[in-house]
Amino acid sequence: MSQNFFSLIRSRTTDDDKVFIRTVDGRSYTYGEMWQLSARFANVLSSKGVVIGDRVAVQVDKSPEAIILYLACLRAGVVYLPLNTAYTLAELEYFIGDAKPHVVVCTPDKYDAIEPMASSLGVFSTLTLGVEGNGTLAEEAASAAPSYETILVEQSDLAAILYTSGTTGRSKGAMLTHANLASNARTLVEYWHFTDRDELLHALPIFHTHGLFVATNVILLSSASMCFLPKFDPKLIRQEMRTATVMMGVPTFYTRLLREDWLNRDSTDHMRLFISGSAPLLADTHRAWTEKTGHHILERYGMTETNMITSNPYDGERVPGSVGPALPGVSVRITEPESGKLLPANSAGMIEVRGPNVFKGYWRMPDKTQSEFRADGYFITGDIGYMDDDGYVFVSGRSKDLVITGGYNVYPKEIESEIDSIEGVEESAVVGLPHADFGEAVTAVVILKDGVALTEADIMSRLDPVLAKYKLPKRILFEASLPRNTMGKVLKNEIRKQHEDLYK
Ligand code: AMP
Repeated sequence: MSQNFFSLIRSRTTDDDKVFIRTVDGRSYTYGEMWQLSARFANVLSSKGVVIGDRVAVQVDKSPEAIILYLACLRAGVVYLPLNTAYTLAELEYFIGDAKPHVVVCTPDKYDAIEPMASSLGVFSTLTLGVEGNGTLAEEAASAAPSYETILVEQSDLAAILYTSGTTGRSKGAMLTHANLASNARTLVEYWHFTDRDELLHALPIFHTHGLFVATNVILLSSASMCFLPKFDPKLIRQEMRTATVMMGVPTFYTRLLREDWLNRDSTDHMRLFISGSAPLLADTHRAWTEKTGHHILERYGMTETNMITSNPYDGERVPGSVGPALPGVSVRITEPESGKLLPANSAGMIEVRGPNVFKGYWRMPDKTQSEFRADGYFITGDIGYMDDDGYVFVSGRSKDLVITGGYNVYPKEIESEIDSIEGVEESAVVGLPHADFGEAVTAVVILKDGVALTEADIMSRLDPVLAKYKLPKRILFEASLPRNTMGKVLKNEIRKQHEDLYK
């Protein structure tokens, strides 16, 4: 059998008349229609002369056709390269210069700006795709053949390159193979009990691994359906929850929905599963959700480079604050960051992962790739965490967010958890800021619940008895909200930058 991930998807589908994807404004594609349009798109790409391994860079708005373009790239054996819709022209220039795509697909309104830049960088053709499925790609597809012989590829051939969000330094292109995508999607379908009776509520962006691979590939391999929302919108979520069965979201979806007075057991009774990932879900949010809806959110953990690594179980205990055990077929270990020495259960250290889900390396960065892998093939995630006696993993944060103060290591998560447990606190973020004596000073940014008036002294008096002196924040700052990216991740870099002169 072909190793093309698309062939696996095709072989799993039984009913061509089944709806694959629909939008909230009434547009839809059955599986049969999707096969045809993906064939037409693949024929258009072939007409531009793409061959196996060529990149197709895509910066378009979320639409069913954008997902079908991803499938067309798989079929044609070319490497799908989705780009965040927020990237500016200057940023695009970096990605196009780095990835050297053969074809670029952009929204019709950006064509005049992107085409000359792309063509000066050697791009053969720039096509357009609008949110209604309009644009030159669709126009050329209309006269292309509705069938296409899926290209044979090797397991280790690239299916996609996803640039990491690059909060420090230049963004890196993570190279994902057909085998990476196939193994993770297969595992998740089984682990989360997906069947063709499921409909996924899809409110995530589709340029990121969560909304693109986790969500879409799982639906495709289970012949299920999905409902596309242009973006997260509580009103639409409420409406679509009446027919959907599963939602995949980032933690901010859940905290925002908890503020809705319609959220209760009745409004969620058609749903069988709520999944959270991409950023830490507070144990409090997990509990509040269960209290209001009766559902236990299933939290999982992964990253662009590795696909999904761990997940709380479907049937067993979903532990608030934990991302669950390693997925079947995936090995996770905790090591001492410097030496790579294995650490015992319950000790915090570097989370490392090995398995068929782990990427092939960073695009055109062999040295960077080599330095992020151990000699025995484990990938060094850069996340600090620990594993308990039952194998459940707890993520404490990125290693680069570790605060080193007066020579002591302070894990921000430990301080944040203490602050978050104080009555009246909504959430917090702890960072290290430059300090003449300590090197870095532990500093907390605190968001209070509406109508609460706590002072710096109130919070300090609560932390003082429970934390060692060196872990105590030197200052506590009150703000209205934490800076976050579209995937709900707190931007600690931004907090550090904003307050870099606090102790000067
Ligand atoms: P990305 O490559 O954008 O998906 O980001 C991956 C990073 O998100 C991981 O390395 C973690 O730091 C973080 N992350 C993903 N899922 C979780 C989770 N459930 N809990 C805590 N952090 C998470």
